[in-house]
Amino acid sequence: MNRILVKETVNNVDKKVRLNGWVRVTRRMGKMVFIDLWDVSGIVQVVFSSDNQELLGKAKSLRPEFVVEIIGTVSKRPAKQVKKDLATGTVEIEAQELKVLAEAKTPPFEIVETDKEEVGEEVRYKYRYLDLRRDKNQQRIIIRSKAVKFIRDYLHKEGFIEIDTPILAKSTPEGARDYLVPSRQYPGKFYALPQSPQQYKQMLMVAGFDKYFQIAPCFRDEDSRGDRAPDQFFQLDLEMSFVTQDDILDLTENLFTAMVKEIFPAKHMTFDKWPRISHTEAMKKYGSDKPDMRKDKNDPNELAFCFVIDWPLFESKKEDGNYAPAHHIFTAPRTEDVPLLDKDPLKARSWQHDLALNGYEVGGGSIRITDPKVQAKVLELVGLSKEEAKEQFGHMLEAFTYGVPPHGGIAPGLDRMLMVLLNAPNVREVMAFPKTGDNREPMTGSPSEVSNDQLKQLHIKIDKN
Ligand code: ASP
Repeated sequence: MNRILVKETVNNVDKKVRLNGWVRVTRRMGKMVFIDLWDVSGIVQVVFSSDNQELLGKAKSLRPEFVVEIIGTVSKRPAKQVKKDLATGTVEIEAQELKVLAEAKTPPFEIVETDKEEVGEEVRYKYRYLDLRRDKNQQRIIIRSKAVKFIRDYLHKEGFIEIDTPILAKSTPEGARDYLVPSRQYPGKFYALPQSPQQYKQMLMVAGFDKYFQIAPCFRDEDSRGDRAPDQFFQLDLEMSFVTQDDILDLTENLFTAMVKEIFPAKHMTFDKWPRISHTEAMKKYGSDKPDMRKDKNDPNELAFCFVIDWPLFESKKEDGNYAPAHHIFTAPRTEDVPLLDKDPLKARSWQHDLALNGYEVGGGSIRITDPKVQAKVLELVGLSKEEAKEQFGHMLEAFTYGVPPHGGIAPGLDRMLMVLLNAPNVREVMAFPKTGDNREPMTGSPSEVSNDQLKQLHIKIDKN
């Protein structure tokens, strides 16, 4: 007999079915045993009656989180016993066979969420596979999957090409520390895990792909915050050729408007047309470059998306005389401001655009520099000597001499956006296997020491001081 999912029981009234899942709750009432059987699709009640003493005896030995196979008949509950808060509340299963597929120890915390004090992150993440069995967490991961699928389908329909870029890469500055991976074959050399696929996506435009996207893992060695994971996060990274800034913003707006409508129907938007306000206005009116423009900040379903544009190219001049980019070194200055790079770089405005949602920065991007001379100038202003610029970015400067299309893009952060859309307390809760706030993964125990042999192969000596 083929297995059906718990949620399908309601369409199989009076039929004999096979169910597989976990015992969530057991109840003994009089001579009967009831269990709540859980699988990825939901919960259904299973009844073991006194008609079959042998089966009842077996059912009495069931404990929460045992994995079972149950064969039984789906029967309609009398109207009075319908459970309205349960998707399968109109039916129950009269068990005829029971097989225990795996026993389970008592979990370190309740799987059925109670009002009791929540267990700490350390314990939850150590047993993340149990934590993920809880309804709320399971739903977050399932909705995340649906959102990603929606994005993929939408962009494919829009003519985008999904392309993977290397994980072992060369450092690309996005303003964070790199995670480095030592090379075995080249002693003293390192790969960097990408802070973003920025350089690769621009090379893909030079290669003529026109519209690229990737659900890209990005790695930044930063201290954790509520809205920032300490290690890895996912961006919807995209890039387009022959476009204006408005084209990029229109696409972003249309994509996420459609996604929210389809995947988060309970949400409503403050603005049908997302405001595009200048950086100066954002700072003046809201005192923030990621303004929270909600009308009612207590409404958990309100979404105020807005774009912040017209950023200065450089955020500041550092003590060493070098300039710090407001976005990154590939962002183009506005055409009319290019002469300012020689005269007064801090006055130059750029083609940067950020996406803000309810006071969070959930994405950024820009129209890129494609003139090798302007790129060389920006590299000089951030403090790279000609040799360093050539060593680190010579490949881009060179690529731009072989026919580079005008291009630009954006990279909305999926985790942070999902955190807001799912009303999750922090960004870690929308990831399947997050690190703790202090950058450990209690389940597998990473980071961990490695053998001396491995270190030797990588030409590494450890100095714990
Ligand atoms: N690479 C940028 C970032 O990670 C996004 C972009 O410019 O498209 O923020």
